[in-house]
Amino acid sequence: MWNQLDISGWKERRRGDISGVLGAVRDIIDLIERDGDLALLDLTKRFDRIELETPVIFPEEVEEAYEEVDERLVEALCEAEARITRFHELQKSRSLWLEEVEPGVTLGVRTRPLDRVGCYVPGGRAAYPSTVLMTAIPARVAGVPEICCCTPPPADSLTLVAMDIAGVTECYRVGGAQAIASMALGTETIRPVDKIVGPGNVYVTAAKMLLRDQVEIDFPAGPSEIGIIADMTADPSYIAADVLAQAEHDPHSASVLVTTDAGVAERVGSEIARMLASAPRREIIEQALSQSGYVIASSRSEAVRLMEAIAPEHLSLQVADPMALLSEVGHAGSIFVGPYTPVACGDYASGTNHVLPTAGYAKVHSGLDVQHFCTRSQVQILTEEGLSAIGDVVEALAEAEGLYGHAESVRVRRRG
Ligand code: NAD
Repeated sequence: MWNQLDISGWKERRRGDISGVLGAVRDIIDLIERDGDLALLDLTKRFDRIELETPVIFPEEVEEAYEEVDERLVEALCEAEARITRFHELQKSRSLWLEEVEPGVTLGVRTRPLDRVGCYVPGGRAAYPSTVLMTAIPARVAGVPEICCCTPPPADSLTLVAMDIAGVTECYRVGGAQAIASMALGTETIRPVDKIVGPGNVYVTAAKMLLRDQVEIDFPAGPSEIGIIADMTADPSYIAADVLAQAEHDPHSASVLVTTDAGVAERVGSEIARMLASAPRREIIEQALSQSGYVIASSRSEAVRLMEAIAPEHLSLQVADPMALLSEVGHAGSIFVGPYTPVACGDYASGTNHVLPTAGYAKVHSGLDVQHFCTRSQVQILTEEGLSAIGDVVEALAEAEGLYGHAESVRVRRRG
């Protein structure tokens, strides 16, 4: 169950899961495009086995949800909300900055929030009220006025409470590819959004990839992954617990331990076997473990190189000097440094975001943050003096490119 892993072609294998469902997801998108709400309700019946009259979650339902949720859980959500808000506030850039870079030449950046975004909150195999916080809070901090949120039915009370706490402005009970298609293309009840963010299973991720021409997306955030670099000082029970935590998400989840110590790899295997015996989501974990395992590296630098090929969603550093390793490791969605930093803390409440690129996409994408919900316009202001300082260069380059009109637009001003 916990074996040595061949990581050659790792990214292709991780992405292969998604390409396997593209055809089915294309059909779902076509149905939503053709039949709107009717298709949405029909697909919900087919895939979620729930008959709905409307996908809309009304504000009264959210109010009632508070009565069904344990007060301590509401408090926990509020505490997580405060920590996530605090971290995302730190990422906010000024709405406008300008600097005179030479006499008469002032440059800067103006930042504006997006107008309307859609947050996908998974809910098939587990409820994810935490994902409501992780998707909607950065949007709210960025200043997005319309935050629409979709989650599969039935949508538990805690998820509805989280929507309220996070500042979601519209809530819908719809999941899977049909939710992504509805937010991208619009139906009679769900108006299209400018950008869709949030994680999901292979169907959700495939829909986001297929609809990229119609709507902006964050990045592929599919089945969860952890990469762990460990040396002989690592505690095997911590590693085993982190592997199981990742594996319980989804049968497609994956964990890769890269270690310089074969003894650690072996002891992790024994710990996994011990912990698995009492794990409530054992069936899912066992399937996820079939594509997980360990790799023995001959040195620390080889461990870094091997992990670079995986570019994992979560990277955990369980070595004697993790801070030194932090500057050596390559791309990863989110990095967890040292033995007391379990991924679960980033999943819920340290404040960092848990919506992260998977399947090697961390090589080119960053986890969800405030910038994902903004556009930045570069600004320039030239005075007559500034124009004359730059004018000769512009005229020369424009003429060299044969763009006479460009050169003339400068000349006409300089002639006065
Ligand atoms: P989900 O909401 O993503 O998917 C459930 C939906 O899938 C259902 O509503 C249904 O409509 C659809 N579906 C199910 N079977 C289908 C079929 N055969 N054909 C078409 N559609 C079908 O919830 P989930 O399944 O629990 O998956 C959540 C995923 O999110 C997990 O893989 C988890 O690892 C991942 N996750 C990722 C991150 C990240 O940032 N990368 C964070 C949290 C969770």
